[in-house]
Amino acid sequence: MERMKAEIIGVGTELLLGQIVNTNARFISEKLAEIGIDVLYHTVVGDNPARLVSVIETAQSRANLIIFTGGLGPTKDDLTKETISRCVGKPLVEDTKAMQYIEAYFERRGIPMTENNRKQALVLSASNVLPNDQGMAPGMAVKHEGICYILLPGPPREMVPMFENYAVPFLLSLISDSHIVHSKVLRFFGIGESALEEQLMDLIDSQSNPTIAPLAKDSEVTLRITAKAKNLPEAIAMITGVEAKIEERVGEFIYGYDLDSLPSVLVDQLEKRKLSFALAESCTGGLASRMVTGVPGCSSVYQGGVVCYTKLVKQRVLGVPSVILEQHGAVSEESARAMASQVRELMSASLGIAITGVAGPESAEGKPVGLVYIGLSSAEAEKVFEVKLSGTRDMIQARAAKYALFYALQELKA
Ligand code: ATP
Repeated sequence: MERMKAEIIGVGTELLLGQIVNTNARFISEKLAEIGIDVLYHTVVGDNPARLVSVIETAQSRANLIIFTGGLGPTKDDLTKETISRCVGKPLVEDTKAMQYIEAYFERRGIPMTENNRKQALVLSASNVLPNDQGMAPGMAVKHEGICYILLPGPPREMVPMFENYAVPFLLSLISDSHIVHSKVLRFFGIGESALEEQLMDLIDSQSNPTIAPLAKDSEVTLRITAKAKNLPEAIAMITGVEAKIEERVGEFIYGYDLDSLPSVLVDQLEKRKLSFALAESCTGGLASRMVTGVPGCSSVYQGGVVCYTKLVKQRVLGVPSVILEQHGAVSEESARAMASQVRELMSASLGIAITGVAGPESAEGKPVGLVYIGLSSAEAEKVFEVKLSGTRDMIQARAAKYALFYALQELKA
C-alpha cells in the first residue's frame, strides 16, 4: 500500500458547541505518529448527515486513511455508520461477533438487552469488527477502493483501548510490507526544547530512518526515535546507534525512557540502592510529595513529607533554627540546607529534599518570583541548588517540584 495519509474526523455537535474538547483526535494523531503514519487533517462535523457526506467526500480526495470517532451509539441513530455505508456503497449487515459483544456487554452488566440495541450489531459489510471491551458499539475497519476507513466510538474510555488493541494492529498489518515500526522515547529535564533542538539540529534534519521527533510538554522534553526495519532486533540496533549519538551530546539531561517519569525513576533508583528519602516542601505545598505518591510501591523508599509553608512550621515542626530563618529569610540557600537536613533526621531517611522559593505572583522577602532553592541532604553531603523559574504560579510550583526530584536523581547518579 502507498504511504498512508490520514484524516481524522470527529463527529458530534457537542464538539462544535465547545462542550467537549476533541481529545480523541489528539490521541489518535499521537499514536499514528508513533507508527509512522502521517496525519494531514483534523476535521470536526456536527451530527448532520448531509454535512458528514460532504466531509467524507473531501477526505476521500486527500487521504487514504480516514478515521471517524463518535456517532456510533444508539443515541445518534447510527449516523456515522449509515452515512459511510451510503458514501462507499457498502451495505450494513448484522455481524454475529458484534452481536455477541453486545449480548456479552448486557450480560456483564446484568441488564436485559432492548431490541434497538440489535442495530448496533450492524456493521459495514466485509469490515473487520473491532471489539469494544469497554462498551457496546463495536468499531470497524474496512478497505474500499484504496481507502481505509476506521470507525471508532466517541467516548475516550471506549475509543482508546479499541484503537490501541485492535485498530493499531490492523493498521500495522496494512503498512508492514514485511517491516516493523519500533520506537523509543528519551526523556529530558533541565533543558528546553529549542536548546535541545539546537544541539541536535544536524541529527534531526539528516535522519529519515530512524526519525527523531522532539516534543515539549509539562516542562519536559521528549525525543521519540522511530525506526522501520525488517525485524525488532534490527530496529533496536538502529535506534541504539542514534541514541548513542544523542547521549554523547546531551546525555546529562536524559533522566529516563518510554513510560518513565521523574518520580518513578527516582523511586526506582533509590530502591536499587536500598535508600529512603523525605521531603520538606514550602512553595510547592506538597506537590512533590503528590508526584512521588503517584508511583505505586513508593512506600519502600518514601518516608513522608512536611508541608512547611510558614516560618513558624519550618521552625516548630522541622526544627529549622529561627536564627537562620530570620537572618537569611525562608527563601534562601541556608534555609533550604537546614530544611533538608532537618527533614532527613526527623524522618530517619537516607536523603532529605527541601524546596523553598517564591511561586508568585508577588515577590516575597524582597526576592523575585521564580527564585527557588532546592536543598539535598545525605550522610555524605549537603547541597543547595538555586533555580530561576518563569511562568505562572502553577507552572513555577510544578517546575520546582520536578527540579527537586531531578537534582535528587542527579545526585544519586553522581
Ligand atoms: P454513545 O454510545 O455513548 O452515544 P458514540 O460513539 O455515539 O457513543 P458520541 O455520542 O458521539 O459517541 O459521543 C459520546 C461521548 O463521547 C461524548 O459525549 C463525549 O463525552 C465523548 N466524545 C465524543 N467525541 C469525542 C472526541 N472527539 N473527543 C473526546 N471525547 C469525545
